[in-house]
Amino acid sequence: MSKVIIVGAGGVGRVVAFKCAQAKEVFTEIILASRTKEKCDNIAADIQRQYGLSIKTDQVDADHVEEVVRLFKKHEPQLVINVALPYQDLSIMDACLQQGVHYLDTANYEPPDEAKFEYSWQWAYQDRFKNAGLIAVLGCGFDPGVTGVFTCHAAKQHFDEIHYLDIVDCNAGDHGKPFATNFNPEINIREITQNGQYYENGNWIQTKPHEIGKVLNYPNIGPRQSYLIYHEELESLVKNFPSIKRARFWMTFGEEYLTHLRVIQNIGMASIEPIEYEGKKIIPLQFLKAVLPDPGDLGESYEGETSIGCRVKGLKDGLEKTYYIYNNCKHQDAFHETGTQAVSFTTGVPAMIGAKMVLTGKWSGAGVFNVEEFDPDPFLDDLKTYGLPWHELENVDLEFE
Ligand code: NDP
Repeated sequence: MSKVIIVGAGGVGRVVAFKCAQAKEVFTEIILASRTKEKCDNIAADIQRQYGLSIKTDQVDADHVEEVVRLFKKHEPQLVINVALPYQDLSIMDACLQQGVHYLDTANYEPPDEAKFEYSWQWAYQDRFKNAGLIAVLGCGFDPGVTGVFTCHAAKQHFDEIHYLDIVDCNAGDHGKPFATNFNPEINIREITQNGQYYENGNWIQTKPHEIGKVLNYPNIGPRQSYLIYHEELESLVKNFPSIKRARFWMTFGEEYLTHLRVIQNIGMASIEPIEYEGKKIIPLQFLKAVLPDPGDLGESYEGETSIGCRVKGLKDGLEKTYYIYNNCKHQDAFHETGTQAVSFTTGVPAMIGAKMVLTGKWSGAGVFNVEEFDPDPFLDDLKTYGLPWHELENVDLEFE
């Protein structure tokens, strides 16, 4: 008997709820709660139609610890899957400590007034979770998430020492809209308009946004212009795999997308500084989110696929070798199964699997953990079972010096 609460009913929350319903032998009771209960009810109705399974729904504003505590008291879950926004991470973690609930999320905490990601705020909960005998699993989506599990698998099975790690994230999909983001527009635009950053020989090197670009070839997709950006899993991976000399993250962006982004920035719409508008304080980026397409609605017309993986170089038995592990996911397949596109799908499936690992005891411990600290094998088996098959290539050209 395992009761799970999912907080957040966006594109990712929808996929998590669908996937938990598919694993009902583990998630014997599912509650979906979010700020707008109607969105939870819509997802619950779709699950009822598709699987004949009834899940509960509730309303919560997870910005407030006491509201999350109230929710936990009412439903008494073993674990919460937090797929609301990164702003709610700490309030939900605080409520977990008060009510003795295990915690899992897909994105690290960000203060609303500062576009900055780092794990320090959540790692600071280590002793409190440890003393409470609770587990907090951080960053269990695809990237972060599967990329950490892939790196751990590479370290365990394929290398004695990892020296170079390049995480490559390609979305070769076309949703037919001039401009839209694939997950929450506010979080997404904050992420990709930041300076780039990568790790080399013990130092973090800063770059200007999209200053470093390179054409990379993705399996089944072909060449795509890819840009070096900063991504949160780099911070935990270089800590947990100290043999790494260089770690970078690359993401594809089309010219059209970057042009829109430049305009949005140039006219001040990416700003998170509050402004006065008709007697009311508004944040331009939040206003922009309200007029952009909802990422959860992009699925129907979305063609093409994503390809995300880790390109690794290092030593095995004294010899240098290269290794590439990746997953490709088609937007249309994701839509047919869950009613949303591949970016939400590739995030929601690993979140459900991480929760399943905790509830079945395959991932255990007390404290705050990043996914690469656990056994990757049962997680990788489940990725194949639940719709994200992965592939490996050895001694191939990684396209990096
Ligand atoms: P959406 O914006 O589509 O959904 C967010 C949901 O959270 C909405 O239902 C929203 O409610 C709800 N929410 C927001 N604030 C609160 C609050 N204070 N209390 C309760 N609920 C709240 O986002 P996505 O589904 O696209 O993304 C969800 C998360 O997944 C994000 O944190 C994102 O960063 C992360 N992510 C991680 C990835 C990875 O690979 N690791 C990749 C993609 C996303 P309402 O409807 O009322 O606004």
